Formats: sequence, structure tokens, C-alpha cells
Amino acid sequence: MTSHLATDVLICGAGAAGLTLAIELARRGVAFRLIEKNAVPFAGSRGKGIQPRTQEVFEDMGIVDQIVARGGFYPSARSYRDDGSYVESELSEATEAAPAEPYQLPVMLPQCLTEQTMRERLTELGHLVQFDCELLGFEQDADGVTAHISGPAGRQTVSARYLVGADGGRSFVRKTLEIDFPGKTLGVRAIVADVTLTGLDREAWHRFSDGDMQRMVAICPLAGTELFQIQAPIAPDAQSDLSAQGLTALVTERTKREDIIVHAVSWASDYQMSARLAERYRIGRAFLVGDAAHIHPPTGGQGLNTSVQDAYNLGWKLAAVLRGAPDRLLDSYEAERRPVAEAMLGLSTRLLKDQKEGGMRRGRETRQLDIGYLDSPLAINLPERKDGVRAGSRAPDALFQGAAGQPSRLFQLFKGIHWTLLVYAERQKTLAARPELHVHHIGPTGDVIDAWNHIRDAYQLAPGECVLIRPDGYVGAVIDVDNLTNLDAYLDGVGVCQLEAETS
Ligand SMILES: Cc1cc2nc3c(=O)[nH]c(=O)nc-3n(C[C@H](O)[C@H](O)[C@H](O)COP(=O)(O)OP(=O)(O)OC[C@H]3O[C@@H](n4cnc5c(N)ncnc54)[C@H](O)[C@@H]3O)c2cc1C
Repeated sequence: MTSHLATDVLICGAGAAGLTLAIELARRGVAFRLIEKNAVPFAGSRGKGIQPRTQEVFEDMGIVDQIVARGGFYPSARSYRDDGSYVESELSEATEAAPAEPYQLPVMLPQCLTEQTMRERLTELGHLVQFDCELLGFEQDADGVTAHISGPAGRQTVSARYLVGADGGRSFVRKTLEIDFPGKTLGVRAIVADVTLTGLDREAWHRFSDGDMQRMVAICPLAGTELFQIQAPIAPDAQSDLSAQGLTALVTERTKREDIIVHAVSWASDYQMSARLAERYRIGRAFLVGDAAHIHPPTGGQGLNTSVQDAYNLGWKLAAVLRGAPDRLLDSYEAERRPVAEAMLGLSTRLLKDQKEGGMRRGRETRQLDIGYLDSPLAINLPERKDGVRAGSRAPDALFQGAAGQPSRLFQLFKGIHWTLLVYAERQKTLAARPELHVHHIGPTGDVIDAWNHIRDAYQLAPGECVLIRPDGYVGAVIDVDNLTNLDAYLDGVGVCQLEAETS
């Protein structure tokens, strides 16, 4: 007999995207199930670069310190010449942390350890991944989704209000929804392998024959482990041997060094690079996040980061609509995130081309700090603004002094599931009380004292202006204090409800 389960959100796939969504729903007390068809967690390094914007997201999710403590920063790239001499260069421009941008450099952590950290956070929040549990089919109507799953308890039916396909590049959910996935294969096949190896130090990312797609091999010490990650392009028709002996032979052939020996392989993959973007991110009550919606080359380390940020965008919106916000809030997910993926596909494909020509340097665009949603239906500037922070842009951090004298940061005010209104005005107009809205006043008589002018520098507000910050750290509205009534309508539209007066 098939048993019947009910939940609000069924998340299919417990990779980085599915885990992020689960954490975001768990923080908001939403009922969900997170199913993963593999019996055990994924064990490879794959997406190992955590970009500064994702570090900000992880700060809000409560895991950034654990991630950085487990991992480390990227070492210099050491490019060897054929005679064995080498030059070293930094992968990213060294930029000092700034008050507005506290994270500047990518952190390296193998994807399996990032996911482990996320699972630990999920456990703190009282949830587990259901491993060995596969989505086999689903149908939907106006009220919900009926999903058929198979797991240790046998076949089960799950009724959910929403289904999210976080099920990777070959997404079963995307295929079932018949969403097109146009794009192209890029004619590059590569291997990636996590290995124990002797013959190289752990001080550099060792790169041989950079730019020569027949001979290139890059060997990177994997922070947080004793392992190295080997990456190498291979010919489309080549036989790949991913055993320790096979990888030693490949490394010897390409480096001309017989002292580099691979002793064991803990994970390896042989893959074709493609760039594809789903035509739609939503059909009815089903959504796509992460690689299910976009795949692209690993150059620039964007994939995991974009996947995490997709789920971070969708999580608060799903929670709000489940609590009664208008359904159109969910349409803003595709409107905001699909253009980001489109740009990222272009970036990673361009970096792949640069890499083929020997270029390895990663610029500001890979850090994802300038991603924003300026054209979003959720962005309002009243009146229009030309300078400073605008609706849709990332809300910068800033150091300030609390009225009680203690140093603090805006990100500490933003951290949590609430919205934040920064009021830069002497005059105060009363907004209806809303439990999910935290209001702070900036100024000598406010609770936030801009002692070092960091808020002024980052936001460039004029007296009388207010900034509304969304739960995902983007500016929802920049609004004149005289227009605050418009903010009431805005907040109703995104599900930030007023506190009902108690009736006796
Ligand atoms: C070889 C390789 C190298 C990469 N290198 C980099 C890199 O250097 N930098 C970077 O940023 N990114 C890299 N990426 C990309 C990065 O790994 C992905 O962007 C990231 O894993 C996407 O996360 P996700 O959660 O969307 O999907 P995935 O990590 O693919 O997770 C999807 C999960 O869904 C599960 N699933 C699938 N179907 C079902 C079903 N029917 N029922 C239940 N569960 C299901 C799968 O088992 C899987 O665990 C690389 C990817 C590959 C393949």
C-alpha cells in the first residue's frame, strides 16, 4: 500500500541549492521535505570556490565562520614553463576588506564540506535530509503538487503546496515540466579528480602548460583536506583512466615529471562543458533552482554560488506566500534570478576562452558583489535616484556605533528573517507596526550613530530618505519619508503583515 504524506514544500535534491532552500525554510518555520536520491552525501570537491557575495549570504544563514574555519584562501597560481622554472601570480586582485564589503576574496572549500556544513546547520534547525529517496513523478493542479517518491519506506505519495527541483543539471523536474534547456556544448571535455599525491607542495596551485588544451594540467591543494584536486582537459574521443595509475600517467606525460605520484583517488569525474539556461524557472507550483536551471563551465567558480543564491532568493518568497502574501511575489524569483544566470553563463564561457589563451586572473565580476535586481518588480525608488544605493542593489555593510556606545555592523542588524527599514530623518512618520519589520533611526539622536560616516559613504542618503532592506540583503525601496504611505502598500504586497490589534 502506498502511504500518503503532506507538507508545504517538497525539495527534490540535497546539493548546495536544495540545502540552502531547506535552511531558509527551516529558519522561517515552514514545513518541508528534502529528498535526495543518493544513499549517502556527495563526496567530491566540484564547486570549491565560495565567492564574497555567497560569504555574505552564509553570514546571514549562520555558517560563514564555520565555512572559513574549515577551508582557506586560494594559494598563488604557479605556472611552470617547459624547463621547470615557474612564475607565480595571484588568482584574484588583493583587495582589502572594506566597511561596505567585508568579504573580498573567494574562500576555498570542497563542495562536500560546504554541503556538510549546511547539513549541520539544518540539523541545528531541527531537520534532516531524507537520503535514498527519489522523486519518480509528479502532477500538479491549482491547489498543489502530488509527488510520487521511492525510499527506504517504499513508494509514497507526497502532497505539497509547492515542489522545487534542486536536482542538478539533468533535472528530472525540469524534464517532467517540459521546460526547454537551450544552449550548447562547448566542445571541451575535462577530468576532475580528488587525490592523495606526493611530489608537490601545498603552497601553490600548480599549473602546467596553461592555455594548451592538449597538455594542460592544474593541481590544486584542497583547503580543509589532505587532498589535491587535479583538473585537465582531455580530447573528446580520449579514453579516460581515472585510477591512481591512470592519473599518475597523465600527470607524468603532461608535466614531464616522474616524481609526482598519485596514490589514491577519493572522487573523480569526466565531464563535457556546456552552457545552458532553462526557458522558465517556474510552471505553476513547481520551480527550478541551481544547476537544474543553468549549467556552464566551472571557470570563475560561479556554479555553486549562483545555485546557493537562487535558493536564497526563492526561500523567503515561498515562506511569505505560504503565509498569505500574493502569489505574484513568486514570479519575481524568475524575473530576478534568470537574468543573473544569463550573465553568469556569458562570464564563465568568456573566462573559459581566456583560460584557453593562458589567462587565469579573476576580476571583480566573479565575486558577485555587484549582482542586483534594479529592474525587479520589487524595486521602487520614490523619487527616482541617480546616486548612491538604489532599489534592487545589494545593501552594503557599514560599521556604526549603537546609541549605547558599542560598535556594530549593518549586517548584524540585517541578520535574520526580517525586513529592515533604515530611517535617515529627524522627522518620524509612523508606519503601521509589523512584527517582521525592524526599524532603525540613523543620526545623533537615533539608535544607529554613523560615527565613522560609513553609512553615509555607502548609502549616500539625503536627510528625509529611508531604505528598506529585504530579508535577502537587497534594497527593496529607497523612499522619501513623505512617501512612507507607499511603503505600507509595498509591505502588504510582500507579505510583511501588520500586527492586528487585540479585541477583547
Ligand atoms: C565536474 C564538475 C566540476 C565543477 N566545478 C565547479 C567549480 O570549480 N566551481 C563552481 O562554482 N562550480 C563547479 N561545478 C558546479 C557545481 O558543482 C554546481 O553548480 C553545484 O553542484 C550546483 O548545485 P545544485 O544543488 O544545483 O545541484 P547538484 O549539486 O547537482 O545537486 C543535485 C542533487 O539532486 C539529486 N537528485 C537528482 N535527481 C533526483 C531525484 N529524482 N530525486 C531526488 N534527488 C535527486 C542529485 O543526486 C544531487 O545530489 C562543477 C560541476 C561539475 C559536475
